[in-house]
Amino acid sequence: MRHNTDMFEFEVQHQDGRARVARFATPHGTVTTPMFMPVGTQGTVKGISPQELLEIGSQMILGNTYHLMLRPGEKLVAAHGGLPGFTAYPGPFLTDSGGFQVMSLGHLRKIAEEGVVFKSHLDGSLVELTPERSIEVQQALGADVIMAFDECPPFPAERDYITHSLERTVRWLERCLAFKSRDDQALFAIVQGGIHSDLRQLSLDLTLPFNTPGFAIGGLAVGEGKAEMYPAVDFTTARLPADRPRYLMGVGHPEDLVAGIALGVDMFDCVYPTRTGRFGYALTDDGRLNMNSSAPRRELRPIDEACDCYACRHYTRAYLAHLVRAEELLAPRMLSLHNLRYLHRLVERSRAAIVAGEFDVWARAWGARYFGGELPQWFAAALEAAAVQPVPLPAETSPQL
Ligand SMILES: [Zn+2]
Repeated sequence: MRHNTDMFEFEVQHQDGRARVARFATPHGTVTTPMFMPVGTQGTVKGISPQELLEIGSQMILGNTYHLMLRPGEKLVAAHGGLPGFTAYPGPFLTDSGGFQVMSLGHLRKIAEEGVVFKSHLDGSLVELTPERSIEVQQALGADVIMAFDECPPFPAERDYITHSLERTVRWLERCLAFKSRDDQALFAIVQGGIHSDLRQLSLDLTLPFNTPGFAIGGLAVGEGKAEMYPAVDFTTARLPADRPRYLMGVGHPEDLVAGIALGVDMFDCVYPTRTGRFGYALTDDGRLNMNSSAPRRELRPIDEACDCYACRHYTRAYLAHLVRAEELLAPRMLSLHNLRYLHRLVERSRAAIVAGEFDVWARAWGARYFGGELPQWFAAALEAAAVQPVPLPAETSPQL
């Protein structure tokens, strides 16, 4: 399965069940999927330098349109040649459209066909964000992958509301594509529809004809449980074209990566590894380790013997727990670094299992240890669904850049 455009070739190299390993070319470098994208909300992955990101195996960094347009403003970023020049991270970036953050953080004032009006969380001024304005900002930020401006309905929402919202999201997608002028940026469309199969199908029916070079699964991880979320992921990935990258937006706990990869997701992002690190938690195969608790203060071993991050190669749990207790700056930095490396290693281990044709066995063994015994029903169901072949796919066609 191979999809070729001038700049954004996506080639599936290995498939095991519905899980796959692929190469995705972008103007700032080729990445290997499945991948986890660290979130650099303000143009920085909190506490982690670009050099460290490269060392731990980060491939693509996410930037937030909402934050960067309000401060420092996209023109200043553009004056540095876009996000790579501004942040000194030399690899590929992805920017979101700003829509989700307006709705989750901004003090939303009005949502209408034209776009949204919100009150800036910085100075209280009223700001308008439309599909055209989102693309204008994203073109100035210069990421390799940019996202269509969409509405992510809250959970729970009425079916009628979700239906009208996803239809408007499609009209907004059309406006984004009409406004977009740079051909060195791949615009991904976003499939909505909440947790309802028929509405997901409607969103797919309306969105797939735009033939974008990648597709995102939006509207999930917004408050519904995992038992409701994963059937929606399963339904959607099974119906997305196999020759395009699939991005599950805003999702990135370890168990989500394994279940998502099983169902054929290629790209993930989440603030979770850095945020939980700042709160003193370390991700491990045995679950989340609380470095604020008393036990690690006496342990002369690293967070994770198998981890090759700087923190695990140099420090004991006792030292890091001491830093946490003393509220030293190095503590959140090292825990964030380890947690990001843990997720990068998790996708690397997933890729190795896919290449070896052992993903299901590997995922079950990983889950048994991580969950401390029996797999949760939602996780087991995702792995079961991953064993079922997806629906047949349409012939390969060229995407609209
Ligand atoms: Zn580590």
